[in-house]
Amino acid sequence: MKLKNQVVVITGASRGIGQAICVAFAKEGATVVGVARSDLAETGTAVQAAGGTFIPHNADLGTGTQKESAAVIGQILAKAGKLDVLVNNAGIIRRAPAKDFSEADWNAVIATNLNSPFFLMQAAGKWWIESGRAQAPAAARLKLVNIASLLSFQGGITVPAYAASKHAIAGVTKALSNEWAKERINVNAIAPGYIATENTRALREDPARNQSILDRIPEGRWGAASDIAGGCVFLASGDSDYLNGVVLNIDGGWLGR
Ligand code: NAP
Repeated sequence: MKLKNQVVVITGASRGIGQAICVAFAKEGATVVGVARSDLAETGTAVQAAGGTFIPHNADLGTGTQKESAAVIGQILAKAGKLDVLVNNAGIIRRAPAKDFSEADWNAVIATNLNSPFFLMQAAGKWWIESGRAQAPAAARLKLVNIASLLSFQGGITVPAYAASKHAIAGVTKALSNEWAKERINVNAIAPGYIATENTRALREDPARNQSILDRIPEGRWGAASDIAGGCVFLASGDSDYLNGVVLNIDGGWLGR
């Protein structure tokens, strides 16, 4: 078990990729703190079935403020006692042509996908450094994992705010990895390819888009949420202690094409 006695926090844990990561972490012996706005009972049942302990934490990460992000980390530390892994997975997408893209949609996507992950990492890193854990003799490390996207590298189609937020989170991953490697904090990211979740339902329901996406994926299928989980366990575990600032593509070969 790679995450025994570890407290792992996963945002966007109510469904999709976040839920799959929760289950994979549970199988590795972790105490899983799942964050989302909606009910987390389904994820809790799946985590317990996988042998893990589940702590639900309802929070809205859509404002993206420093104050609210710090409060979330503070409340989780009060509940769980410590924090070993934070996975910034919660994310939204809004689709509209650039000329019509609304200010409200732009701000919502940037707040959820960029501001909130940065301020959550800031609060977790601040706690880690100021509590002296970086200097403790134990081999403990803080692992921060951001869920980026193929649109950390590409522009996408009518999703300008999403592409901006995902390019930026890749940059923040590298920036924090530089600053915090010496603090025994690993900051890395995963760029999932096209995964069958609520986030991509509109694409899969459009026969032409669905087929063009499938035709371009060397593996020839949509990814499953569970396809992302193994890489996330790697980035959360001691197997990746000398890995910093990497964006790991898990995309069925899309970017290699
Ligand atoms: P999803 O099924 O739509 O799940 C999104 C999760 O984020 C839900 O648990 C949702 O929970 C949570 N969330 C959204 N807004 C939130 C808010 N304001 N506060 C708290 N939680 C919030 O999407 P997914 O496909 O699993 O996406 C997960 C991550 O992977 C996202 O960052 C996404 O950009 C990224 N990604 C996905 C794909 C893909 O093909 N699916 C590809 C590349 C990257 P509630 O609604 O319950 O709050």
